[in-house]
Amino acid sequence: MICLKQKTCLRNSNKDIMKNDNKNGTNGAEKLNLQLVNNESYAKLLSNNRTWVDKQLQQDPEFFKTLAKGQSPEILWIGCADSRVPANEVTGTKPGEVFVHRNIANVCVHTDMNMLSVLDYAVNVLKVKHVIVAGHYGCGGVAAALSNKQFGLIDNWLRHIKDVYRLHSHELDRITNQEQKVNRLVELNVTEQAYNLCKTTIIQNAWKERSDLFVHGWIVDISTGLIKDLGVSANDSHKLGYVYEFEADALAAH
Ligand SMILES: [Zn+2]
Repeated sequence: MICLKQKTCLRNSNKDIMKNDNKNGTNGAEKLNLQLVNNESYAKLLSNNRTWVDKQLQQDPEFFKTLAKGQSPEILWIGCADSRVPANEVTGTKPGEVFVHRNIANVCVHTDMNMLSVLDYAVNVLKVKHVIVAGHYGCGGVAAALSNKQFGLIDNWLRHIKDVYRLHSHELDRITNQEQKVNRLVELNVTEQAYNLCKTTIIQNAWKERSDLFVHGWIVDISTGLIKDLGVSANDSHKLGYVYEFEADALAAH
């Protein structure tokens, strides 16, 4: 995977810096900082930030003062970490409008404390109305999960998607075109991850208290930029099945 190459590259460049430091007796940290500052893609970020701040202030002089007062987003976006699917850009939303959690291949598992914390805060404190699991066609994580190659530590994470494949292998094994197969698994993965969210006590307890909370499954088609709603939206736990749908007074029973 690309990141593995980048890691090797970074490791090599750090080794070179250390070698030069030992030769010249200079401070390694200073050298590293100098190298970062001179890095074009890094410096561009800071320059772009200034431009963005100026543009926002031109449009609304109070923009940052308002933003600093707090957030009340109605949307929680759980998407893929892929750099091509930024939540705000693809939905045309502004800072403050979407609470975002991203990981490789938009996986939602009940043992992920990070995801659960984001979900709990978004649902119970921010009171978001829409939780959207957003996958994307051509997802590298899903493609990797559909292969039998080793990619390192990430293989453990991708196991969750391999399990989705196992659940739907009867359908997926009939697709001979690999790209179509990956994209269908992308859709099924989003559906299963949205389903996983519905199985949490966080979502189910919120549903008992209010009727304005929805869980959705979306796909971003990177080749067109368009979003496809998979039509798997849920607003109650009635279709989850006996062992997944918690009874209303579950806590009282103990
Ligand atoms: Zn992806």
